[in-house]
Formats: sequence, C-alpha cells, structure tokens
Amino acid sequence: MVPETWDEVADIVVVGFGAAGVAAAVTAFELGADVLILEKAPEGQEGGNTRVAGQGYLNTSSPEKAATYLKALCGPYTVPDEMVRVWSEEMCLNNDWLTSLGGDPQEHQHQPVGIEFPDLPGADCVHKFHDGPTYGYSHTWNRFESLVKDRSIPVFYETPGRELIQDGTTGDILGIRVEQGGKPLFIRARKAVVLTCGGFENNQEMIRNYLPGVPYCYTSGSPYNEGDGISMALAVGANLWHMNNYAGPSMALKVPAFATTFSMQALHFSKVMAGGMIVVGPDGKRFADENFKTRHGKVPSNGTWQAQPAPCPMHMVFDQALMASGPLYDKTPSHGWTQIVERYDWSEDNSNELMQGWIKTADTIADLALSIGLDADRLSETVDRWNGQAAAGIDEDFHRKLMLMPFDGGPYYAVELSPSMLNTQGGPQRNEKAQILRPDGTPIPRLYSAGELGSIYSYLYQGTGNIGECLAFGRIAARNAVAELSVS
Ligand SMILES: Cc1cc2nc3c(=O)[nH]c(=O)nc-3n(C[C@H](O)[C@H](O)[C@H](O)COP(=O)(O)OP(=O)(O)OC[C@H]3O[C@@H](n4cnc5c(N)ncnc54)[C@H](O)[C@@H]3O)c2cc1C
Repeated sequence: MVPETWDEVADIVVVGFGAAGVAAAVTAFELGADVLILEKAPEGQEGGNTRVAGQGYLNTSSPEKAATYLKALCGPYTVPDEMVRVWSEEMCLNNDWLTSLGGDPQEHQHQPVGIEFPDLPGADCVHKFHDGPTYGYSHTWNRFESLVKDRSIPVFYETPGRELIQDGTTGDILGIRVEQGGKPLFIRARKAVVLTCGGFENNQEMIRNYLPGVPYCYTSGSPYNEGDGISMALAVGANLWHMNNYAGPSMALKVPAFATTFSMQALHFSKVMAGGMIVVGPDGKRFADENFKTRHGKVPSNGTWQAQPAPCPMHMVFDQALMASGPLYDKTPSHGWTQIVERYDWSEDNSNELMQGWIKTADTIADLALSIGLDADRLSETVDRWNGQAAAGIDEDFHRKLMLMPFDGGPYYAVELSPSMLNTQGGPQRNEKAQILRPDGTPIPRLYSAGELGSIYSYLYQGTGNIGECLAFGRIAARNAVAELSVS
C-alpha cells in the first residue's frame, strides 16, 4: 500500500549494513547520491556476517581466468554468461576500490594460498586479501564501516525493512516500510532500493524448505539474517535462485541460550587434543571422518560434490582424557559471532558447561547412550569397534588420521552437535546490473541487490568469494541505481 505521506526520503535506500551495504552506500555517495542505510541490528551489532567473518575478500588476478574458474565452480548449475562476465571483471577491482578510499589491502600470507578447487581451470586467479596487517578480528569490517562513518552516511539502527512499497501500475519500487520502536515508518527512495540484508541463516522454515539434507541448521554468523530480503522480494514478484546452496554444514554445539553456534576444537581437528572421541548419528554409528574436512560443507561423491551428510541429532562421544585436556570450545576470538560478539567465556576445565547440561556424562557407555536417547548396545558396539581400530592405528571405516586414540576407562561424555553454517547463498535472482528479476527475466524497476542475498554461487564456493562479491555487486548495484531518473 502506498502511504499518503512519507516519513523520510533519500535517493538510494540501502537495506542492511554489511559489506554489500557498505559497497553500495559508499559508491552511491561518491557518485553524489543522497543515501540512507537501514539496519535491523542495534548499533554495535551491525555488520552482519561481514563483522565476524574470517575477513578475507577475493581479488581475482585476471578477468579471463576468473570467468573460467567461476564457470567451473558453477558446474551443471550454470549462471548466465553476462553475469559471469561482470562478476569476473569487477572482482579484479576490489583492491583498487579499497585503495582509492584509503584502505590497505594485504594479501593473505599463509601457504597454500587457499585455492579451494585447485584442479578446476582458472583456479590460479584466486588471491585473497584483507585490510591492514592481520586478518580476522573484524579488522576488514572495521575499515568498511569507517568508510560509511567518515562520510556521515546516515544509518538507522534497529530499523528492519518489512515491506517494499510498489507502484501497483508500473511495478516501480517507490520505497520501503520499516519498523522503528515498534512503529511503522515509510521511507521514500527517489531512485532505488538496494537490498543487502543477507541470507536466511536464522530462518528454520526456509532452511527446512530449501537446504538439502538438514532438518535444521544454525549459524556461526549474525543472528539478524532471517531471510527478510527474500520475503520482501518475493512479495513484489521476484524470482529466487541458488536457494539450495550454502556454506555448510560443519558440526557444532548449539544451545538454547545462544542464537549462534559453538565450534568444538576436537572436531575438525582445529586443535589436536588427547583422548578418545567419535561422532555418531541417531543410529549410534559413526558416519564420517571426524575431521569433517569439507570444501565449505561439500564433499566429493561419485564425481559430484554434495553437502556433507549430517544425520541429526548427532553426538560427539568422548572420554575422560579428552574432557581433561582443556576447553572443548575454540574461544579464540578471530571470527564467529559467538567468539567476537557474545564472547562467551567457556571454562578451562569444561566444568561450567557440564553443570549447564551442555555436556552429558555417565559412568558407562551404555548409560551415556540412554541419557542421549541412543541404543545402548549399538553405541557400545561402535565404541568397541573404534577402540579396536584406534589401537591398531587404522580407521578402516572412514580413514581418519588424527586423534586415533581408544577410549579410556571412563567416565564418558557426550555433546549434541547440530549442523552449522557460515551463510546461505540463495535469494532473489539478480542480473548483470544487480537488478532483481521476475520469473520472466524482466527486472523489477528500481530494485537492486548485492551480497549473499541471492549470490552468484550456485554450486561450489571459493573461500573469500562472498565478501569479494559483496564489494563487486555492491558497486554495480550503486552505479546502476544512481543512474535511475529521480522521482519525487
Ligand atoms: C564465521 C564466518 C566466517 C566467514 N569468513 C568469510 C571470509 O573470510 N571471506 C568471505 O568472503 N566470506 C566469509 N564468510 C561469509 C561472509 O561473511 C558473508 O557471506 C558476507 O559477509 C555477507 O555480506 P552481506 O553484506 O551480504 O551480508 P551481512 O554481512 O550478513 O549483512 C547483512 C546485514 O543486514 C542486516 N539485516 C538483516 N535483515 C534486515 C532487515 N530486514 N532490514 C535491515 N537490515 C537487515 C543484518 O543485521 C546485517 O547487518 C564468513 C561467514 C561467517 C559466519
């Protein structure tokens, strides 16, 4: 419904203050537009997944190689050639853009450089950067945020976009209804609305409907990304794409008191710890190498890449030696919402978490099985089998190489694991101008998007490609949005 009066007016209204929102807002501002950013989170929790990411962004070395690599990453889930072309051209310009604004792009130094699919053609286009001397710890985000603050671009915090206002005759997007302090506000966009409000990592209904193989999944990123951009775009006639692609799953602890997940050090072997440990599904059996070494959640399967199986509920079952070998949670605050924003102080000896019931214990494996709802005989058989293989030094079932240790004499412990993800990739389909498209391929007038809300990644994902794309398509969206005729 078009309101009789508008509460605020700007040329460009950017919805969501993460990397894509920054790139769109700053580019539009530099082109002379009057810009307003709307952000759902309170001040101090803005920045979305970008704030708590590893902080790397992709700056590819040549458009030709980048196009070849992206096409290969898409595999059978092709994206239009024109999209590949603009992505490839723009992804080479991220460092130039950041430098032109006073940033300090530095290439990641660790080896190998992190080419995720080195066998694919064009893979050597990959170069990962961050701003400033080190990566992690929100450093790159802090630079992005300063670009907005230095320009005094207004940001309305705690102001989620709720509904796009569309002209019933022309289909033009006129503005957006937001909520502020529980009241509606109507914000007019003279030129365009740019949606940069992230994915659906916190919308369990969308997760059930769209993500393959997981009945639920939780995030290590921002709790504010609830798929609002998808709902708003659908309501004005958008088409969706890449809804089944996501950066996950990994396996992590999720407890009701926190919206985001806790990564376990012994899992994924981010730290090799002493003690016996396995992960089992609801049938009490192991289902994978507990290293869970995936390519952002994908594992090879018969010549294809599929999401890592996650038979829920899953349990990490372990012994006293592991319990006694230090905190099970990786609390290094380099990335992740729980670490960076919540800063939960996990006890050094895991005792607080045992007391809170996050860790269950029993004197025997059979009793432990009963306390976590598993078949006692089956879990005992699984632990016995593991103990035999670990003692022999060969994991015949899943070829695990690390922490090949039999269980000690107890007591025993279990932590329920949930599938966890970094981010979703799906959302409204956009074209090479970053316009949001209808199912018939025509653009919805004056509606743009950038970032992980409808990202280009349809199948495989190259790490740092998300923030790289935020910057690239944020700029593209802004340039085209600013070129729209202004209507009052
Ligand atoms: C732990 C972790 C590590 C990662 N590491 C990397 C990495 O190193 N490199 C990389 O490229 N990618 C990484 N990713 C993925 C990457 O962080 C995201 O894909 C990217 O930052 C998304 O940026 P965005 O601007 O699209 O969305 P976000 O940064 O998530 O920003 C979206 C913003 O929109 C706001 N919002 C939501 N709904 C509304 C609404 N209705 N109205 C207004 N505002 C709204 C949110 O509060 C948020 O501030 C990582 C993700 C995580 C969780």
